Amino acid sequence: MFSPQQLRQSFPVFQHFPNLVYLDNASTTQKPQVVIEAEREYYEQHNANVHRGIYRLAAEATALYEGSRERCARFLNAPQAKQVIFTSGTTDGVNLVAQCFAFPRLEPGDQVLISAMEHHSNLIPWQQVCLAKKAELKVIPFNQQGELDLQALQELLNPKVKILALTHISNTLGTINPIAEIIALAHAQGVPVLVDAAQSISSHQMDVQALDVDFLVFSGHKIFGPTGTGILYGKEKWLKEMPPYRFGGEMIRDVTFAKTTFAPIPHKFEAGTPNIAGVATLATALDFVESLGQNNIAAHLQTLLAAGMEKLSSIPGVQFYGEAAQKSGIISFTIDGIHPHDLATILGQQDICIRAGHHCTQPIMDFYEIPGTVRASFSVYNTLEDVTKLGEGVNNVLKVMS
Ligand code: PMP
Repeated sequence: MFSPQQLRQSFPVFQHFPNLVYLDNASTTQKPQVVIEAEREYYEQHNANVHRGIYRLAAEATALYEGSRERCARFLNAPQAKQVIFTSGTTDGVNLVAQCFAFPRLEPGDQVLISAMEHHSNLIPWQQVCLAKKAELKVIPFNQQGELDLQALQELLNPKVKILALTHISNTLGTINPIAEIIALAHAQGVPVLVDAAQSISSHQMDVQALDVDFLVFSGHKIFGPTGTGILYGKEKWLKEMPPYRFGGEMIRDVTFAKTTFAPIPHKFEAGTPNIAGVATLATALDFVESLGQNNIAAHLQTLLAAGMEKLSSIPGVQFYGEAAQKSGIISFTIDGIHPHDLATILGQQDICIRAGHHCTQPIMDFYEIPGTVRASFSVYNTLEDVTKLGEGVNNVLKVMS
């Protein structure tokens, strides 16, 4: 098990801001020195464009870029590296699948199934594709605790559903959905499944073959890597069938004015100069996560979650949103009589960083009939002292405002 206190020393942000209580990890994580160094080293020592040049630097850049694909494939236990497509993040990956997998398949009256706890990124792309194809967006409900209604899910699965897109962990409620069970239920009805692993990838080992998942997406920046990076994993049979996403350089086999033939996967989906530095660096971020161990990270998040819930429940007027039996290190709450933005602003002035608002999940706010929550979300470098400071900070706000 790692020591969060020691780990903080590997994150330069805490040297610059020693008193920082960073509890907005569901939005993005801070970056360790090794990741920052990897990006710097790329630009200082290996920078060139990929796939075209034959000189040494170009070969190195290509090796780093394609090496990262191999690394990502190992990280997910993907059968082949070519099933890993580099994207700019989770949002980009979902849009790619909505446009290139769902769009060509959907007929009027068909359905796309999502859950009521999806991030807008795993909602709007499906909603828009359904609108364009006169298909229906169907939604799996959740209960007051924030747990998916698996009975309703089973009733909603039918041959008209062309894809089920589901988050593994809710960025607002913290609920950990039983994705293995859900994928099996969906497959029993012939429904392919996309898993949004944005919130789970750092704390849950994703074995795409064991899960038999059709598509899986995540963002590099939530797993200690650079912004503007992400992964789409897909089953080979689907990726091969899908048309390209964007058109341009890098994704072709042969071009004339009359006709273009496209490169095989994965390059068919990677038009233009990619985020080479980001992709190269993402491999280092994955090494970092594996060096800590996803099981250890999950255990640490559970410790902080338990301490946070205990601390906050002792504060008068606290309401929690998301009390699922299986819950990750994300706590959404409100305090009677205090606007979430006021709470987050005053805490921010004390270097306690939490998020206020709808967290890109407006339907969750509608379900609870609230405008927003404040959200504390934990990561590897958070300590029990951070939780204490959060509790003290909230109590101080209560004193100031009462
Ligand atoms: N899905 C979930 C569950 C998320 O938490 C987020 C980011 N908050 C996203 C999708 C979107 O990720 P990105 O903005 O990196 O594309």
